[in-house]
Amino acid sequence: MKVFKFGGASVKDAESVKNIASILANYQDDKLIVVVSAMGKMTNAFEWLINSYCYSPNKVRQSLNEIVDFHNTILWELFPDKGHKVYIAVNELLFQLEEVLDKSYSNDYDQAYDSLVGYGELISTTIISHYLNSNGVENDWLDVRKVIKTNSDFRQAKIDWEGTQTNINKLNDSKIIISQGFIGSDSEGSTTTLGREGSDFSAAIFGYCTNAQSVTIWKDVAGVLNADPKHFPDAIKIDKMSYREAIELSYYGATVIHPKTIKPLENKLIPLYVKSFLNPEDEGTVVQKSTSHDKLLPSYIFIKDQILVSISPKDFSFIAEDNMSFIFAKLAEAKIKVNLIQNSALSFSVCFKNEEKKVESLFNALENSFEVKYNDKVTLLTIRHFTEEILDKMTVDKTVFIEQKSRNSARFVLR
Ligand code: ASP
Ligand code: MG
Repeated sequence: MKVFKFGGASVKDAESVKNIASILANYQDDKLIVVVSAMGKMTNAFEWLINSYCYSPNKVRQSLNEIVDFHNTILWELFPDKGHKVYIAVNELLFQLEEVLDKSYSNDYDQAYDSLVGYGELISTTIISHYLNSNGVENDWLDVRKVIKTNSDFRQAKIDWEGTQTNINKLNDSKIIISQGFIGSDSEGSTTTLGREGSDFSAAIFGYCTNAQSVTIWKDVAGVLNADPKHFPDAIKIDKMSYREAIELSYYGATVIHPKTIKPLENKLIPLYVKSFLNPEDEGTVVQKSTSHDKLLPSYIFIKDQILVSISPKDFSFIAEDNMSFIFAKLAEAKIKVNLIQNSALSFSVCFKNEEKKVESLFNALENSFEVKYNDKVTLLTIRHFTEEILDKMTVDKTVFIEQKSRNSARFVLR
């Protein structure tokens, strides 16, 4: 078995769907599970729809129309024959979607989110499966919610590995399977999601449970690069890296592979390929056990739009376990994901994504006992496998608020 994952960028228009068909045409003799995301930026469009549904019902129509129009444009180009059965299949999904939207909002945002957002992947995979079947790539469409079982922690559901394994064992893999990433279902059958960008993880789950020979993530870049090419035009492809290094990179904020993807593959030593869907013959990156290549190139990870908050007790007590556990509890209550911490005797600093509502609720929770100061619009830069020369180059002309170094990583909060 091989598992492939195609993200939103690989199915953003009719041309890209055709490109996927030409890639898959080469794998018809393999056993293959193909996990596909929602098309283009449709998950964001679904998030607008969900916000309309929950908070501004008068905007639901408009948000829904945008989604319908986007898919129709692709459908018309792929299937000029309006009698094709794909139209019935997509309409059936849109009908189900409308049924959810017709119910009144229950005040559980996370559940509402999960009951709606996954239609992006359901519609996308329906279109792709029909297109492939009509163009010589025989496949079965699988509703992934029937196999990937989770708890009911909506929007960040945890996998029920045993239930999922049992279901995957029963799959009929005589044809290529086309299925969705990102979604699953709980024991009640309600749709759940694994967190934004969770489709890589879905592919890893399939890889793990089928003891796959490999998992391949197809992307619009040549592989894993040593920096985000959007911010760093000279980024270079990394040919080979260890599972450990991939976990470290995603831990520090590299977005190329979803953080949860690696562990299941590492446990079974399943190689992960990251390849370009634009140049499918090229080698890409392979993530595997050996660490021998990890130090060959420095990697740069920029996380922008961070806020650095420093917190000092008003009563002149030191920063110690009791203060820290109070501060951490308040960070958790505000649902803040901390990217870096530093403490001294009298103050505790945390760096995290600057989201107005969360920042406000944290400040409110701390204001009685602590003096809180902040610097916003800062960037968190991590450099793996650095040299002093690189550090000098990267920090010249910058205001550095915090600097932390370990053997393999240097981290800066700077502006
Ligand atoms: N479509 C979902 C998202 O954009 C899941 C994924 O693409 O991995 O977050
Ligand atoms: Mg995506």
